Amino acid sequence: MADDPTSNGTRHRLTGWGRTTPSVATVVHPPTREDVRAAFEAAGTRGLITRGLGRAYGDAAQNGGGTVLDGTALTAIGPIDGPHATITVGGGASLEAIQRAVLRTGWSLPVLPGTRHVTIGGAIASDVHGKNHHVDGSFGAHVESFTLQPPAGDHVVVTRASDAALFEATTGGMGLTGVVLAATLRLMKVETRLMRVHSERTADLDATMRALVEADATHRYSVAWLDLASPRARGRSVVTAADHARAAEAPGVSLLDEPPSWRPTVPPVVPVNLVRSAGVQLFNAGWFRRPLPSEALVPIESYAAPLDALGAWNRLYGSRGLVQYQFALPAGEETTLRAIVEAITHAPAVPALAVLKRFGPGNGAPLSFPIEGWTLAVDFPAGDPALGAFLDTLDERVAAAGGRVYLAKDARMRPEMVPLMYPRIDEWRETQARIDPTGVLTSDLDRRLHLTAGSTRSPR
Ligand SMILES: Cc1cc2nc3c(=O)[nH]c(=O)nc-3n(C[C@H](O)[C@H](O)[C@H](O)COP(=O)(O)OP(=O)(O)OC[C@H]3O[C@@H](n4cnc5c(N)ncnc54)[C@H](O)[C@@H]3O)c2cc1C
Repeated sequence: MADDPTSNGTRHRLTGWGRTTPSVATVVHPPTREDVRAAFEAAGTRGLITRGLGRAYGDAAQNGGGTVLDGTALTAIGPIDGPHATITVGGGASLEAIQRAVLRTGWSLPVLPGTRHVTIGGAIASDVHGKNHHVDGSFGAHVESFTLQPPAGDHVVVTRASDAALFEATTGGMGLTGVVLAATLRLMKVETRLMRVHSERTADLDATMRALVEADATHRYSVAWLDLASPRARGRSVVTAADHARAAEAPGVSLLDEPPSWRPTVPPVVPVNLVRSAGVQLFNAGWFRRPLPSEALVPIESYAAPLDALGAWNRLYGSRGLVQYQFALPAGEETTLRAIVEAITHAPAVPALAVLKRFGPGNGAPLSFPIEGWTLAVDFPAGDPALGAFLDTLDERVAAAGGRVYLAKDARMRPEMVPLMYPRIDEWRETQARIDPTGVLTSDLDRRLHLTAGSTRSPR
């Protein structure tokens, strides 16, 4: 296997951010649109999937035995079209690079997930959400058009008007409708690069849920960081509610004041899991009791993506990696949410980090994750043999309540759960088969969950 991860057409062992379920694929790095098209022509029988910055936790951007197309060379960032409040960018441009380019003139991307090291292609393919979902919806709501390279033929510019089914199948479609070469996105105006953040401590899960409902009524952004590391913590949390700060609130702070780009990074080899039960409980005991300013001005990136402050933090979990379990439940399923949270506090592995949020209405895309209600994301250290069976039981409770697991975070779910959680999968498959009739597009996620109609056919 090649050591140089940039060498073209060589075999590499790839994982998602969770560093579980590795597989070996031939990785190609097409520098231009023409090379993307040629990569499809050269793909063998095990097919092709696109990879962005590898921030999906599971196996969505892997294709064991086949081709993985690294789309990160397509980084162009066009000028801002002020009158239309839009920008056209390459599919491999990162949210970080775009924010750097636009914030200095008072614009921002309207949806920022919990890390800014995500490409535009990855943001569309997972239809990512931010802490403002209850107001602004998910990423796809702010995409005007995208340029898609399907497995055969010329690239196509797709809008909701030109091909609504393909637009929606690509939004949340996990890269299985083609390579997003570029996209035109709507921007929003901001007066500063700061957020006014209100923080509140809550004593238990019910108080946390009440605080989120109240926060959502008056604030554009909200989220709760929960302590689930011990049943005694009872779902206590820190709830933050935030809005973009107006210029008058931050005199003397310029839009040009960029934050420093240096950050500490966890070294490449951490052989053991440092996220252990007693340590997490101790850390949480301090973190959830620390003095908390009720109101503060915080840079947008620190509020939207606080974990980015430490590079490669996933290595803290050691060589076995981590599993992130993120599910959504419909509004009205609060009793199910309480029961699942209670079960998680007795999980076979320590739930190290837990984030609760309310979603606003979902969009029309068949595989888009958000549905109106609640979403909880929990990180577990991987490796405990009982964890898989435990999460299988949670899958069943989530599906029975009309909820779903987030495909961008998944590395372990069973295929029979997919039609229960995503009941419009057949509609999606029809569009996917139209754009990829010979079944070139596939991934480890696709084969594991039987997403595309052809995913169970040999030799894939
Ligand atoms: C710390 C952290 C916090 C996160 N927080 C959030 C959050 O708050 N909200 C949220 O929604 N998600 C969140 N995520 C998940 C992340 O936003 C998504 O997994 C996103 O898709 C990753 O983008 P990427 O560029 O790294 O793509 P990859 O992980 O490389 O690939 C993800 C998917 O996108 C497809 N893809 C990538 N590029 C293209 C392209 N050019 N054309 C077509 N398909 C493509 C791949 O095939 C794959 O299916 C978080 C992840 C991390 C690590």
